[in-house]
Amino acid sequence: MRQSHLFTKTRKEIPADETSKNAQLLLKAGYVHKEMAGVYSYLPLGIRVLSKIENIVREEMDAIGGQEITMATLHPKEPWVQTGAWDSVDVLFKIQSRTEKEYALGQSEEEIVTPIAREYITSYKDLPKAIYQIGNKYRDELRAKSGVMRGREFRMKDMYSFHATQEDFDRYYAIAKEAYLKIFTRLGLVAKATEASGGAFTTKLSYEFMVLTDAGEDNIVYCDTCTHCANVEVSDQKEGETCSRCNKGTLFAAKASEVGNIFDLGQKYTKAFDFSLHTVDGEAFFPIMGCFGIGTTRVVGVVAEALSDDRGLVWPESIAPFRVHLLALGDDEKVKTEAEALYTTLTKAGVEVLFDDRADMSAGAKFADADLIGIPTRVVVSTRSLEAGGVEVKKRTEKDGNIVSIDAFISSLVPKA
Ligand code: ATP
Ligand code: MG
Repeated sequence: MRQSHLFTKTRKEIPADETSKNAQLLLKAGYVHKEMAGVYSYLPLGIRVLSKIENIVREEMDAIGGQEITMATLHPKEPWVQTGAWDSVDVLFKIQSRTEKEYALGQSEEEIVTPIAREYITSYKDLPKAIYQIGNKYRDELRAKSGVMRGREFRMKDMYSFHATQEDFDRYYAIAKEAYLKIFTRLGLVAKATEASGGAFTTKLSYEFMVLTDAGEDNIVYCDTCTHCANVEVSDQKEGETCSRCNKGTLFAAKASEVGNIFDLGQKYTKAFDFSLHTVDGEAFFPIMGCFGIGTTRVVGVVAEALSDDRGLVWPESIAPFRVHLLALGDDEKVKTEAEALYTTLTKAGVEVLFDDRADMSAGAKFADADLIGIPTRVVVSTRSLEAGGVEVKKRTEKDGNIVSIDAFISSLVPKA
């Protein structure tokens, strides 16, 4: 992509009410546009990041047998009344049509997925099954001051699984927990799995996946020696104490953001929707359900918050909008020719390149934009770099670059056939 063609420009002015670091950076760099508190549109750079995050999530859900669907987000009122959530879920957006019919906007999809599953899972032999979607959610959050980390409209991957027995649920739950840890590693995040009660849904055990960041809204304690981690809200352990799990490490307190969670819904929804089956012996039972969420737009915010520096965003390789940011400096013809040739070679080889080919733009302004946008590798073509024998290559996380020959740079990115 040529930066001269890119739909967005970086900007200095952003809405004055935007106080969160993640949204400030994403707005300045042109990843998102703010519509109102808690509601953001995703622009070309933002979509590239979000799609990569969601594709990683999709791959790992497919790998554990999840099957993708897309459910409606405009919901009939009836299933919400049937589970009692119409009156008890405070974040539920309720809307009325011009004929005074009432609807809900999807804040989670148990009310929709359970009746769908009841139609297709008709025998114990059909179990287990897991279906998931990646889509928009709507929640009437009271405070929406954490930028894209807490939206009133946001995106989530939500998977629902159905099991004949508690043992089978437990088996799948352990597999899903490992898949979650793998996802967060692939996303370039260090996520800790806390043990917590399932909040409004159930008193059964759940795991929250927490990324340490001062912008997070959760308080956790974690062990410096083993993987033990707990939400302060539910834990009776405090900072400074010896870890109750390993009896060796010390507990540290930190702020964290919940990027995902998994929990046992038990038979709450299968009972509410009278979704029952018969065992091989003819005994009626209600399947056990699991719910597995990941906030994909929250991940964008957490990465922006936790991995950025004072110059701008710093994307992990796996979710960066482009792999290489190619900057051509000055209007020297040789520079232009070499930069164009490099852009063509890399693009043809399938390397995603953002090519800053903009004329009448100072080197300083191009560098500042590159830092703000945060692509992992910056490569500069200038008269000076060509005289020194090639291009200057610098990782976004490094302070200084190195001169590398153009051929060597290409072979570092493109595997030889
Ligand atoms: P929180 O405690 O942060 O409100 P939650 O317990 O309500 O989260 P779930 O209902 O389990 O969250 O949703 C699954 C995931 O969706 C969460 O782990 C989080 O990553 C994401 N999420 C929840 N609410 C929001 C929101 N308002 N904006 C963005 N992402 C969200
Ligand atoms: Mg919530």
